[in-house]
Amino acid sequence: EECGASPKGPAIVASPIITATSVKVNVSMPEAAARAAATGADGVGLLRIEHLIIGMNKTPSWYIKHDKQEQLINELMDGIRTVLDAFRGKSVWVRTLDSPTDEFLNMEGGEDEPHEHNPMLGFRGLRRDLRQKEQFRMQAECFRRLWEAGYHNLGIMFPLVQHPREFLAAKESFREWGVDVEHMDLGIMVEIPASAIIIDEFIKAGIDFCSFGTNDLVQYTLAVDRNNGLIGEMYEPEHPAVMRLIASCIEQCREAGVECSICGQAGSDPKFVKWLVNQGIASVSANIDAIQKIRETVAKTEKQILLNAALKKN
Ligand code: PEP
Ligand code: MG
Repeated sequence: EECGASPKGPAIVASPIITATSVKVNVSMPEAAARAAATGADGVGLLRIEHLIIGMNKTPSWYIKHDKQEQLINELMDGIRTVLDAFRGKSVWVRTLDSPTDEFLNMEGGEDEPHEHNPMLGFRGLRRDLRQKEQFRMQAECFRRLWEAGYHNLGIMFPLVQHPREFLAAKESFREWGVDVEHMDLGIMVEIPASAIIIDEFIKAGIDFCSFGTNDLVQYTLAVDRNNGLIGEMYEPEHPAVMRLIASCIEQCREAGVECSICGQAGSDPKFVKWLVNQGIASVSANIDAIQKIRETVAKTEKQILLNAALKKN
């Protein structure tokens, strides 16, 4: 309605919405970087590296086995650079590798992937990188080179972190490999209830930010496989246990001045985002197609918060 002709005067032209809560965008492929940047998003809250790797159709182990690490590093760098270029002056959180082993099975090198009973509870995320150091080093090398080339909008997010010692070990490895960990933002995804419960310990360990991976946080909190349709209706981001974990994290991060964000699917749901903004979340990251709606939701919610505060004062 804001754009329509008003009976009292000329048409009011909609201006870009500015919000106190940053509204960022999730990017899966570099090809989408320009479209993502055109939304006017305040940054990238999640760039999933494994999609780049799946696009190359060879597992990281394949590159190592064939002594082609340099090729993987260069291909990764090209993809990430495209996104960093599209978001100059805005932060881009690149997530280190996170693929359950079953997702790599059909790629070249997939035959060397371990077979697991329960890939979702197994060899994925940061725990895998900490056990496959060469795979982790290739990613670090790529970040180091991009940083040294002047891409200081790069931040790194570790997935599926369960204990602060994992974060500290990752940071230590990065340091050993020459990454400027004192200046580059390093954060974690909050996807396991354990890390939400002890978020204060992660803050003490020095995380620069954290981001709710609600797709996993919901499945692990509720013991509901995110891909199992038989119990699909039990997959509930609004479950009070999930909301309590999230609310508590937001509050502790606010007090500590650590940016708290969300990059799971719930961050593209206006109803959920309204609740997050009311809890005081610092930023949300949504899918490209949801950005406009989410920005409007954030603006409306912030306005309501201000109005309520003013009414309370009087
Ligand atoms: C999440 O778990 O919410 C998330 C963003 O990560 P992925 O969907 O890649 O597991
Ligand atoms: Mg996840």
